[in-house]
Amino acid sequence: MKIIRTCELSYTYEGGEDSPTDPAIIDISLEIKKGEFVSVLGRNGSGKSTLAKLFNALLLPEEGTVFIYSYDTRDKNFLWEIRKTVGMVFQNPDNQIIGTTVEEDVAFGPENMGIESSEIRKRVDGALLVVGLDEYAKREPHMLSGGQKQRTAIAGILAIKPDVIVLDEATSMLDPTGRKEVMGIVKDLCRKDGITVINITHIMDETVDSDRVIILDHGRLKLAGPPRDVFKKVDEVRGYGLDVPQITCLFHELRKCGYMLPDDVITPEEGIKHIRSMINGN
Ligand code: ADP
Ligand code: MG
Repeated sequence: MKIIRTCELSYTYEGGEDSPTDPAIIDISLEIKKGEFVSVLGRNGSGKSTLAKLFNALLLPEEGTVFIYSYDTRDKNFLWEIRKTVGMVFQNPDNQIIGTTVEEDVAFGPENMGIESSEIRKRVDGALLVVGLDEYAKREPHMLSGGQKQRTAIAGILAIKPDVIVLDEATSMLDPTGRKEVMGIVKDLCRKDGITVINITHIMDETVDSDRVIILDHGRLKLAGPPRDVFKKVDEVRGYGLDVPQITCLFHELRKCGYMLPDDVITPEEGIKHIRSMINGN
């Protein structure tokens, strides 16, 4: 089932009268299926955050349409439904936390939705358990590590029971441990609970086991497909100011030196397998 569909979507920010701006999103048509894990890549200013904001009606299309299920994001009657369906986690963990305790923070969303307090309690406890912060319920959020803060932000989104979570460079300010914590939780939410995840990132390792990678450049959708198919286009991907996974890059260089290695290797484990069998001559 399609959960997000954009049709010929374009968006331009208002510039001043003497400073017209280029469109931030140009003619993007794409569909995201329920339960899919999609990584969105693109250099700074390529339109990733704008696209994310168009997904939950923080911005409205200038041309074209965004549908969340069958709801047109321009239809104000569905705004609530859309915001409830698509939750966003942003880059800076410190800007997202409002509560004075972790549980208060997580309760904020459902409280705003007017949900009754016994149900809020259930949702908060459940969400904290999922992100592994159940023992931190009474803590002050500003005392937490970056990774824990982002997990609190994710719990706050989960308490709204969204069908889609959009992470806009949500791990980019975290250390490797924090990144792993957050990505582990998000992957489980997708694979075990069927939540659709859209992960905007510039960290290649986070993208290799996604169902699909989407590359934006100057507001346009340039490449989309399984990571293996996208990253084998090494030169094209680099042309968009991006890297490919290190192992893909290494194999690309080795192939140039004449080694008979495949061009669609994206994880170190696969790489080791191929090098081993090359050395053993089979
Ligand atoms: P990304 O998230 O990929 O870095 P953005 O979606 O933030 O890219 O930005 C896309 C383009 O829109 C850039 O050229 C950026 O300068 C411009 N832009 C982003 N936000 C605003 C804004 N609030 N006002 C004007 N221009 C903006
Ligand atoms: Mg951005």
